[in-house]
Amino acid sequence: MSGSRIYMDWNATAPLSSDARSACLSALDLIGNPSSVHGEGRAVRTLIENARRDVAGLCGAKAASVIFTSGATEAANLVLTPDFRMGRTPLKIGKLYASAIEHPAVREGGRFPREALSEIPVTSAGVVDLHALRELLAAHDRALGLPMVAVMLVNNETGIIQPVAAIAEIVRTVGGILVVDAVQAAGRTPLAIEDLGADFLILSSHKIGGPKGAGALVARGEVMMPAPLIRGGGQEKGHRSGTENPVAIAGFAAAARKVGVDVAARMAPITALRDSLEREMQAAAADVVIHGRDVSRVGNTIFFTLPGLKAETGQIAFDLEGVALSAGSACSSGKVGRSHVLTAMGYDPRQGALRISIGETTSEAEIERCAAAFAKVAARRRMPGQAA
Ligand code: PLP
Repeated sequence: MSGSRIYMDWNATAPLSSDARSACLSALDLIGNPSSVHGEGRAVRTLIENARRDVAGLCGAKAASVIFTSGATEAANLVLTPDFRMGRTPLKIGKLYASAIEHPAVREGGRFPREALSEIPVTSAGVVDLHALRELLAAHDRALGLPMVAVMLVNNETGIIQPVAAIAEIVRTVGGILVVDAVQAAGRTPLAIEDLGADFLILSSHKIGGPKGAGALVARGEVMMPAPLIRGGGQEKGHRSGTENPVAIAGFAAAARKVGVDVAARMAPITALRDSLEREMQAAAADVVIHGRDVSRVGNTIFFTLPGLKAETGQIAFDLEGVALSAGSACSSGKVGRSHVLTAMGYDPRQGALRISIGETTSEAEIERCAAAFAKVAARRRMPGQAA
């Protein structure tokens, strides 16, 4: 990236951290297959098992409960299935209740058939509606199997922190399974699988400064597990076959070690920068709407709507000013889709919203330049009633 550009899209992918980069580079030179019993194989096996401990440490889990995958999407597809096992006994999951603001990786429902999917609404503040969840679960037909609930700890668009411990309490009363997408929470808010009361957590390497193409499904225990998604040689204790990717896993672990410690202290300067940018944005355009400002949010995200500026247009305008940010939910095609999160919160999604997301290496100078770009874009927008 040219020195004159500023990257403010950390929720889409965080830049590779220097620790992760070095870990990836050294892993590249290991030649063994981790399943081989010779010294070369054992060296890679050691790297992977150490990495498993690091990733477990990020979320207070046991190393044995971490299953490495190719990313969060695969982890979601592994765990979101009607077919579970409790030890050797098959366990049927009847329905998946996923919140309306889940990332498509979860919202698509994994291996559940469409008719087994049910949506949990959110309030206009962007928080999962606990009352609605209680009602949905009370009406759950247990003859179909157990209920599974999937919610994210932190929303990728708004940065809003969801009340997962309270959700866990509700799920527990009906004997359901709770899956928590912690992709955007890792490193940004304290993350402990026990405290959250989650049965499974989903993690992604590239959102925390690791390389793309690695992630994990983390279980609270080891007894209740989903049927494998990828079958073959039985790696990852049979939960995910295929030779592990030591390079990506090493980078993921290095990133996890870095972001997992002292989260509050690490986030404090980032939050201060975010807050100062929000103040400057409001000074430049008093009508800017910052979504989720009144509820608990992670400190790196600003999700905003500027009246009179369509998200697609805004994204291009910022890009031309040298600022990389996101509009709505960027799909794989690069097309800007209407934000299902805004829709779920009851906003008219046609205008959309823009997302600024920052991180560890964001500087004060970059915040200043972003604020200046914002002021320029805000001044140029076409206000309602103005001629084209
Ligand atoms: N869940 C959330 C909340 C995300 O933000 C993302 C990535 O955008 C994913 C899941 C998917 O992660 P991955 O790219 O590792 O498949």
